[in-house]
Parts: sequence; structure tokens; C-alpha cells
Amino acid sequence: MPFDYMPWWDKETKEFADEVENFCDTELVPRTTKLLEQNKDPMEIQWSASKLCVEKGFHPLMVLAEKEYGGRDKGYAGYTILNEEIGRSNLNVNPLLTSVFGAGPVHLFGTNVQKKKFLEPIVKGEKWASITVTEPDVGNDAAGIQLHAEEDGDEWVLNGWKRYITLGAISDYHMLYANSDPEMKRIHRHLTAFLVPTDTPGISVEKINDLIGDVEMANSVIRYHNVRVPKENMILDPGDGWTVMTSALNIERLGIAAVVGSSKNLLETARAYGRRRVQFGSPISRYNGVQLRMANISMKMHLIRVYIYYLAHLLDTGEADMFSFALKSSTAKIFGTQSLTEMALDALFIVGGDGYLQETGIGGILKNGALMQIAGGSNDILKLFIGRQEFKQDVDERMLTPSVRGPTKEEADKL
Ligand SMILES: Cc1cc2nc3c(=O)[nH]c(=O)nc-3n(C[C@H](O)[C@H](O)[C@H](O)COP(=O)(O)OP(=O)(O)OC[C@H]3O[C@@H](n4cnc5c(N)ncnc54)[C@H](O)[C@@H]3O)c2cc1C
Repeated sequence: MPFDYMPWWDKETKEFADEVENFCDTELVPRTTKLLEQNKDPMEIQWSASKLCVEKGFHPLMVLAEKEYGGRDKGYAGYTILNEEIGRSNLNVNPLLTSVFGAGPVHLFGTNVQKKKFLEPIVKGEKWASITVTEPDVGNDAAGIQLHAEEDGDEWVLNGWKRYITLGAISDYHMLYANSDPEMKRIHRHLTAFLVPTDTPGISVEKINDLIGDVEMANSVIRYHNVRVPKENMILDPGDGWTVMTSALNIERLGIAAVVGSSKNLLETARAYGRRRVQFGSPISRYNGVQLRMANISMKMHLIRVYIYYLAHLLDTGEADMFSFALKSSTAKIFGTQSLTEMALDALFIVGGDGYLQETGIGGILKNGALMQIAGGSNDILKLFIGRQEFKQDVDERMLTPSVRGPTKEEADKL
């Protein structure tokens, strides 16, 4: 199936979509399939696929970054196209996305010097970055970060713990958020962001988590004990950590929502199986119940695709104001990941027992859908944020009846 372009894309974006699709079909998928057939370790397969993407210029961070820092400057549309196509290919290249999330703050806010020194090697895949927000007592309530940062001359000294850190044990940098003002004198000015080289003395990996999926990602519990970081590794200024984190989360949530690319894979699997499998004398695709499940997959996939590319367009054209964009990127992340789980279940039930085989890949998509509903801020919490903001908006009374908006004095007198 040819790549389904958005009507507002220019020639360059359409050509890039074709280039990515061709790379996935002719290089990435064949390489990975060969390794799978050879029963290679999942870790080796994932890193091999990630390194091939880097080598051929398809690291999502490379696609996003400006040319002067080794990037291809294809904007958020290019970033989303790549994420979608990798999802369609049903491959894990999680080291790449993790590195985008880890290096995102440097891309967004780094000085030229920081970009040259830190971003460029990550863009080129010579170095890898993790994002380190979560702590033993801090999950969704990221404002409650406890890892402590204290200024000491030209350095900051870090003490505390982080957990659930993807690639934490093997990455070269931790993009770390620390509490630099435990008394919280000013709301949301108590956090500071640092890019910490992982070979700094005082950093120790205390545990690798045993996960139900993503087992290759060295998901780690990390201790920081008197870790000294030079000031030049600070992103923006002391107290700017909340702004850095929430802005970078927008890129993360758009990237997560693009996992919807996997739904193309689900659609094709369900289409092929539904047409081929005969029960009670007919292909199962002729049965209403199966068609309803197929419609569920198709409708959600098309809606989410348009929405994520619309968001990419807002970012690329500079039309996104960061606050309202946070609501939009949360909407995309919630709807995309919740739908992915639902679509995977619909595909699984269409394919029946065969869908439960490892080889169809539906099980992996199901696990990924569940994880992505938790990571980058739980869907439930993000929904609270959206609901709360909706109630804060002014009421548009034009179409409301008196019983809904409350009667005017004149109307009340007539009651
Ligand atoms: C595989 C994996 C990889 C990860 N990688 C990283 C990483 O690289 N870097 C990183 O920093 N973190 C990472 N995380 C952590 C992830 O971001 C957190 O799990 C996530 O932010 C949620 O935090 P929590 O699990 O502590 O849940 P909690 O915040 O403890 O929430 C638990 C439950 O309570 C609900 N809840 C909490 N508060 C409220 C409320 N006020 N109202 C209603 N419901 C509420 C939540 O919705 C959730 O259902 C990873 C997690 C996993 C599983």
C-alpha cells in the first residue's frame, strides 16, 4: 500500500515519506527478519535494527535535528513519518526513541555549545541518552522530584535515586531532573535540568528490572551519590527544570502517539487472515461481527494519523503555543495508545488462536499499547489535566438553554 500522504505536505515531505517506506521495506525489515530466523537474541536484533537506522540516516533525532548538528532537519512531520513507519514494520528500535526523549531538551533549549558537544554525537548515534524523571516515590507527580541538586562553586552536586530508567545502565547521558529548591519557594521553579555523563563518579546501577516486555532495554534503578556535574551541563537556568521537562514531554507524547503505525500492521494482518480463513462455509470476513471489529481498527487508525500529523504541522509552522499544545499532545497520546490496545485486541480476536502465536506480533503490540498508556505520564492523569482545563474555559452561552446556563433576571421573573 503506498504511503498515505497528508494533503498539506510539500514535495520534500512526500519524498521523505517514500524514502522511509522504501528503507523499511527493503532494508530494515529484511535485516531483522533474517536475524529472527537465525534465532538471535532480542537484544542483538533491537540494537542491530537501531544501528542500521542510524547508519542510513533514519534515527528520529537525526531526522528532527538541524543540519549544523548532524541532523536532516525534516521537522516534526519527518519525525512522525519515521515513527509511524517503524511501527508499521512492527520492529523495536526503542534505543532510538529513548535517545530522542533523553536528548530532546538539548534539541529544544541547548546552547550552540551544548548542541555541538552533546547533541551531535547523540544525533549521529555515537552516544545514547536516557530520560531520568521517575523515582522510587515519584511517578506521575513529577513536581515532587526529590533527587537533590546543590550548587557548589562551578559545579552542582547530585544525591538521590531514579528508577524505571530505560537504557539507564548502558546510555552515555542521563537527562536528569533534580530538586534544587526543596523549600519550593516559587511554584514550579524548584527543578533544574542537567545532562549527566554516566561515567561520572558516584553513579551506580543498583538493579535491572525484570519486565514483561521491552526486556532488552536495561531498564534500571540508579543511585547518584555526590555526583558532581559542571554548570555547563545545565539546560537553561536553575529553576527552569519544569519548563524544560514539560516542553520535552510534548515531543515524547507525539512520538508515543505515532506508535499507531503498528495499527497498519494490525489492519493488514486482520485483512489477510479474515479473507483467507474459512469457517461455517464462508471466509470469516463475510461475517458482520468480524467486519465490526475491522471497522474499529480502521476508524481509529485513520483518525489518529490525521491528528498526529496535524500536531506535527502546528510545531513545524510555529503555530503551536506550548500550553494548548500540551493539551493536544496529551490528547494524541491518550487516544493513540488506548486505541492501540483496543485495535490489537480486535485484531487478535479476528485472527483467533493464530493471533496468539508469537509470530503474528500482535502480542508484542498489545504489550506496547499497555506500556505506552503508562509511560510519559499515565493516561488517567493526563485525562484529569484535560478535564480540569475544559472546566476553566469561559462558557460559550450562545446555544445554551436557561436551565443549563442559569436564567437571566428577566427569564427568572417569567418562571
Ligand atoms: C517499561 C517502562 C519504562 C519506563 N521508562 C522510563 C524512563 O526511561 N524514564 C523515566 O523517567 N521513567 C520511565 N518509566 C516510568 C513511567 O514514566 C512511570 O511509570 C509513569 O510516569 C507512571 O508513574 P508510576 O508508575 O509511578 O505510577 P503512579 O504515579 O504511582 O500511579 C499509579 C496509578 O495511580 C493512578 N493515579 C496516581 N495519581 C492519581 C490521581 N491524582 N488521580 C487519579 N489517578 C491517579 C495512576 O493513573 C496510575 O494508574 C518507565 C516505566 C516503565 C513501566
